[in-house]
Amino acid sequence: MRNTSATQLLFELSQPGRRGALLPKCDVPVQALASLLPEGAISEQPPQIPELGEPDVVRHFTNLSTLNMSVDTHFYPLGSCTMKYNPKRNEREASLPGLLHLHPYQREETIQGLLALLSELQDMLAEISGLPAVSLQPAAGAHGEWTALMVAAAYFRDRQEKRTKVLAPDSAHGTNPASARMAGFDAVSVKSRANGYVDLDDLRSKLDDQTAVFMITNPSTLGIFDEQIAEIAEMVHTAGGLIYLDGANMNAILGVTRPGDFGADMMHFNPHKTFSGPHGGGGPGAGPICVTETLGAFLPTPVVVRNGEQYAFDGNRPKSIGRVRSFFGNVGVLVRTYCYLRTHGADGLRRVSENAVLNANYLLSQVRHFLPSPQGERCLHEFVASAADIKKERGVSAMDIAKRLLDYGYHAPTVYFPQTVPEAMMIEPTETESKDTLDAFAATLFKITGEADDLLHDAPHSTRISRPNEVQAARKPVLKWSPAASDA
Ligand SMILES: *Cc1c(COP(=O)(O)O)cnc(C)c1O
Repeated sequence: MRNTSATQLLFELSQPGRRGALLPKCDVPVQALASLLPEGAISEQPPQIPELGEPDVVRHFTNLSTLNMSVDTHFYPLGSCTMKYNPKRNEREASLPGLLHLHPYQREETIQGLLALLSELQDMLAEISGLPAVSLQPAAGAHGEWTALMVAAAYFRDRQEKRTKVLAPDSAHGTNPASARMAGFDAVSVKSRANGYVDLDDLRSKLDDQTAVFMITNPSTLGIFDEQIAEIAEMVHTAGGLIYLDGANMNAILGVTRPGDFGADMMHFNPHKTFSGPHGGGGPGAGPICVTETLGAFLPTPVVVRNGEQYAFDGNRPKSIGRVRSFFGNVGVLVRTYCYLRTHGADGLRRVSENAVLNANYLLSQVRHFLPSPQGERCLHEFVASAADIKKERGVSAMDIAKRLLDYGYHAPTVYFPQTVPEAMMIEPTETESKDTLDAFAATLFKITGEADDLLHDAPHSTRISRPNEVQAARKPVLKWSPAASDA
């Protein structure tokens, strides 16, 4: 083994004759596994991975991390994503050794503390949502959508009803129709009116005995609360369908109103938006769902239950759709959620939402004079401004303004979403920002709208890469390491 690099060693261990050294013990013969690989998939040469000392690797990744914008370094008003500051205290608590070193295969009686925490968390989410049955298993908001739609499908199967359609407004997040398709339904789009409310005539024309679920985000991604929600719920329920509440915008209504009270049968929470879970790369995350008592029978198993002073996993639910994620869900994120809820308490959560709404309205009042908001003078936790006028007059687009903000040390707002607003800039300041930060941001936006057209078309000027082809970068990322590229 003398002078053998780690890469070389791994490569040697992975060769057919040695394959067993890298594989966990299993009953399948190594040759059978190797034969599953397509011809030519086993490399003859070790991969060209650079050989570097640890300090070089640490410096490389630490320097890369400083090129990122994050809530810890910059104001980050990315609408629809709720990029609020997350208390570091919750990070510390999720890292307490008693939680961190638990093993998912430990026996129930040795993890009573964790089970008590998860059980209390279920109760708190039930209270906030107004929906009594909870599953902590789903691994993201989108996964929660899919899980709830599978629950709905099981419910209708149980009633021997064949329903094929899931409806959602045209302003819905793309995950809504995607989840509908993945759960085996047809996704049907319902029109919104100019003020962002659901077009009830269009909804009525699409509701029938094939409608399983109407998915609605309320407050919507336009930052408005659709006050027709009780009427909508009544229409959908009369047609025999269920209401799914996409809870991504719960930051606007915590402790003010509850989805279960305004007609929802199912919903998800996004802990990384609302309850101080870490954001990033689609996970690891959590997307707990809450449903009505009736639908509770179909939730994933196991569910944490309390029997007197003891907590246990209950897997004995004959109508359950089964497991949707390994073990108990993403416990690290759920612990942060628990800490966040316990820290704020009921009154504190309401204040979170009141301040989120106050901040968004204040910023809207500062911005709408030069970037009008088609939805009017009031909003909830976020608002959508439009650069359509500036685009028409001078050719300066929402993208130009968003890119220029990077030069001033701000993360850009969400742009071109929702698609129902031309040159959309969706801005969500959140409750965790000060008035000074909001004033400085509004002043910068105003300054940018007065800058020279060419300066804006070519922005950003301060970043390593100016305007990558984003579609290409996502679909065909260049991930190869080469000394020449890393010097560039
Ligand atoms: C973020 C978001 C989702 C998806 O949630 P993830 O946790 O990112 O999967 C769904 N709907 C809306 C409205 C959202 O903003």
